[in-house]
Amino acid sequence: MARKSFASKGVGKAPPIDGHLAAAPPEATHVDWEKVAPDFTFQIISPPPNPNPKKRKRNVTDGQHQSSPFSETLSTDWAVEPADHWEQTQRYRKFTISKETFEVGNVLLIKNDEGTITSDPDSGLSPLANVLKNQWVAHVLEVRAGDEHHVYLRVYYLYRPEDLPMGRQPYHGTNELLASNEMCVIDAMTVNQRISTTHWDENDDSQDIPADLFWRQEYNFDTKKISKLRTHCICDQPYNPDPGRILLNCANNDCKKWLHGECIEKDAIKRAYKANDLKYPIQDSDDGSVTGTSVNGTPKSKTKNKWKKMKVADAPPKPPKPPVKLDFSAMLKSEASDTDDETINTLFVTDLRKGKRETKVMPVECLFCRHVID
Ligand SMILES: [Zn+2]
Ligand SMILES: [Zn+2]
Repeated sequence: MARKSFASKGVGKAPPIDGHLAAAPPEATHVDWEKVAPDFTFQIISPPPNPNPKKRKRNVTDGQHQSSPFSETLSTDWAVEPADHWEQTQRYRKFTISKETFEVGNVLLIKNDEGTITSDPDSGLSPLANVLKNQWVAHVLEVRAGDEHHVYLRVYYLYRPEDLPMGRQPYHGTNELLASNEMCVIDAMTVNQRISTTHWDENDDSQDIPADLFWRQEYNFDTKKISKLRTHCICDQPYNPDPGRILLNCANNDCKKWLHGECIEKDAIKRAYKANDLKYPIQDSDDGSVTGTSVNGTPKSKTKNKWKKMKVADAPPKPPKPPVKLDFSAMLKSEASDTDDETINTLFVTDLRKGKRETKVMPVECLFCRHVID
């Protein structure tokens, strides 16, 4: 994604933490920050192979290792250019914009290329996701300044699912971000505000699903791959934690599998077809209700092979199939009980055929062991 730095227009100075000018190689050009253009930018690059600053061929700093605040697998080696400017900045722990102080470790909203926040209440997005529409999210790793008009933040970005090369996946929640190791140096004047994000460890069943912005998945900027998430259910897919999305745990102690509400509904519709001696009109490979693409954004192997074959034969792409109108619909409701901590699950199946239009309550069955879940 294209990231752009914005012109600095004055930043309140915080005291330096290790306040000395970084040791620049003797032949480095002296930088007069008063003469440096306000739209000057630093570039993060892969460390060059030559580590000796005295024999530096390009104006690039030595490589350094950055451990990730998110996950060990997201650590990176980095260098920055131009080195003479970078080495003639001071390091700070904090910086101040419009009387608000930010510091290393903060997660911040950053103006994107348009630099404006447009919040559209009719967008259908959650209020948090709506705010993110026009902004980036960045974790501050380091604060550096040449003078009060040239303050820079070295950051790791958190990705919105929309910004991934493979795009938003069916399991991504509306408040979901991904931790990444895309490093950038941005102008401190691009900061809008501080936000909080929670790490959701899906393997910890005792942790509640975060109500605010969260990340559970990693995007590796070097390999362009996203990490594998915990999968559930007979469809073997991750869980989308948006409000209204149900994940049920089978009560059978020998099973204890987690099941998607959508998959239980789909199964109930199939059972209704069978009970009425009717043929279920959709092939399993065609109804990707909760399933979709694999973690790398490539289609599942079955589809991939089909695509390969088509490419060789140079066949025109098939038009998308019109949605099949089903004779039954199903809705799973999960409600807190009035009397205890338990939830009550009710599965409604409606016969949509002409002259019928009746809704029945069906038992909620585990899709693995067929145990009835209350
Ligand atoms: Zn499922
Ligand atoms: Zn079960």
